Amino acid sequence: FLPHLVASLEQVEETYVMIKPDGVQRGLVGEIISRFERKGFRLTGLKLFQCPTELAEEHYKDLQSKPFFPKLIKYITSGPVVCMAWEGVGVVASARKLIGSTNPLQAEPGTIRGDLAVQTGRNVVHGSDSPENGQREIALWFKEGELCQWTPAQAPWLWE
Ligand code: UDP
Ligand code: MG
Repeated sequence: FLPHLVASLEQVEETYVMIKPDGVQRGLVGEIISRFERKGFRLTGLKLFQCPTELAEEHYKDLQSKPFFPKLIKYITSGPVVCMAWEGVGVVASARKLIGSTNPLQAEPGTIRGDLAVQTGRNVVHGSDSPENGQREIALWFKEGELCQWTPAQAPWLWE
């Protein structure tokens, strides 16, 4: 689909980004999607979704033993989230940089959390922390027919 990228296909990663219920309730959906859209990665999945408890627990299973786990599951299931899959070379680390530190008070200005949030328990957005988790989380949150492979009109202006 992107003939000029075939040489670097092994380097192409995918990451799962999610606008959490506070981001949706606060009307930040467009603002947050814009930041990823303008950066220049490829969007391959996008939906508004009310997350069931079991899915939230599976998504955050590595944090099961943490004291904040029950509150986290309540937060993530408290209203609809926006699920996104983004693809590109270096997209996992880059998305984490755009998102900023877990604690929004420590997140740099210019990042999503640094600009738009104040508390760890209301930090508006999620991003996968490794390429492996990117794949795992996209498979968890999206069904096969919900993902779209396409060539952005801007492709030759974004990727050489
Ligand atoms: N979280 C929390 N309290 C904490 C640490 C984390 O409520 O002390 C929540 C917060 O919403 C965070 C999520 O749990 O985004 C996942 O934690 P992780 O350490 O994976 O942070 P992230 O990868 O989201 O930056
Ligand atoms: Mg994490």
